[in-house]
Parts: sequence; C-alpha cells; structure tokens
Amino acid sequence: MKRIDPIPRNLSADSLLKSLGITAPRDIDLEAIAYYVGLRIKRRCLKCCEAMITGRGNKGIISVTPGGMIQRERFSIAHELGHWAYHRGETVACRATDIGKFSKTNAVERAADQYAADLLMPWTMFKAECKPHRRLDLNALKLVAGTFNTSLTATLIRMVTSGLYGNAMMITHGTGGRKWHRSADGIPGYWFPKPDLDRESFAFELLHNANTQDQSFPRKIGADAWFDNHAAPRYEVTEQSFRVPGEGVITILLLDGAMLS
Ligand SMILES: [Zn+2]
Repeated sequence: MKRIDPIPRNLSADSLLKSLGITAPRDIDLEAIAYYVGLRIKRRCLKCCEAMITGRGNKGIISVTPGGMIQRERFSIAHELGHWAYHRGETVACRATDIGKFSKTNAVERAADQYAADLLMPWTMFKAECKPHRRLDLNALKLVAGTFNTSLTATLIRMVTSGLYGNAMMITHGTGGRKWHRSADGIPGYWFPKPDLDRESFAFELLHNANTQDQSFPRKIGADAWFDNHAAPRYEVTEQSFRVPGEGVITILLLDGAMLS
C-alpha cells in the first residue's frame, strides 16, 4: 500500500477514503487506514482513559482498551484518527465520556467524533444504505448499523442528522432522567423533550422494568407524553424505544408532519 509522506494535516475523512480507493462499507478497514497514515493500533489496558494517541512527526500509536464491543472499539479508533488529522503533535487521552458524545462544549472532542462518523459512515455510502428505508425505525437502524459495523447509538445519530428523516428525533434516558437528544434539522426548537420520562411512554417501562423487552414495533402516543409545550396535546408522535448497554434507553421519536410547520 502506498503511503502519503508527509501526511497532510487536516486531511478530511472523505479525502482519505478516496485516496485509498474505498467505496464500500465493508472495505473501511481501520487497521489498514491507520497504517496508511503512519499509525499502529495497540490494544492495551489504559488506566485513565478508553483510547489515546501518541506520536512524533509522521508516526504514532493509537492505544485502545480491549474487551469492549467491536463497534465501540472501531469508533474509538476512528476518533483517535480524527485527533491525528486535526491535533497532531499532541498526546491526546480520551475518556469514554469524550468519545461518541459530539460534545457541545469541547470542540476538540467534537471534531474527533465528527471525523470518526465521517470515516466510518461516509455520507454517500451511508445515504445509499438508508434510502431503501423510508421510515426510520429500529429495524432499519439495525440493518444500517450492521452494514457499517457501527454501534446503534452512533448510527442513529447519523441517520437523524442525514437529512433523510426530517421528522426524526433521538432521545437518551438513564435512571437520572434525560441525558441528551438529537433532532433532525428543521425541527423547531420548541419541540424540546421533557426532562423526565412520562409513565405513559414505553421508554419509562423499559427503563424501570428489567423484564420488559425492546419495542419490536413503533407505536403512536400522545405528544404530551414527550413534550410539555402548549401545542403538544393536539398531536400524536410515534415512539420506539430500546436499551443500549452503558447508555440506558434510547427512543426514536417521529413527529407528525403537522408539528413541523
Ligand atoms: Zn478524543
């Protein structure tokens, strides 16, 4: 494999994939990509973080804690490749909470997350895989995540922000209440989910009853179970919730078209 030398700084994930001739999801081989840009990947227990990168000049090492889910490991490695593209020359150690959260407050971690998503789920390939799924539901999510070998969480963020599902929102909850949420562009800001889960919602049942299974099918529910603005009682939304280890419960919420005008 030919090597770029010196590796240009700020080489976008797209340019990198192009220069490697990668056009299909199954060819996104992170070991090969890392090698191409001068990096080796080591799996070793890290005390203070989940993944880190150390480097000098055009050579470096990505270290990643072994034993996690492969999809999570791939995102962590791709995140470190993002630091290599944007923050080279620095030793960067990333905690689990730094990776995959698209931090609103930490621009360095957000840039690395964005790079990881662009590398693992390039828009052209990603949209082509999503297109056959006219509606965003758990089944579609699992199929797309399987194609890209990415986690349900990272894949769902990508689907919600793809522009293909203009009425979609994802909301994550833990036992302490709402953790974070993402909305498709164009959803008005007043459709901001309530901090706590409504007892009527399936997500509530899933979070508080260990025997409950993930929702196989989406179902309609009054929008006031999810939103407390004055317009909510007039609408229904479609909810589908599922558990994600380490995250809690994630809900795919589809808004009625009339709510978007
Ligand atoms: Zn990081």
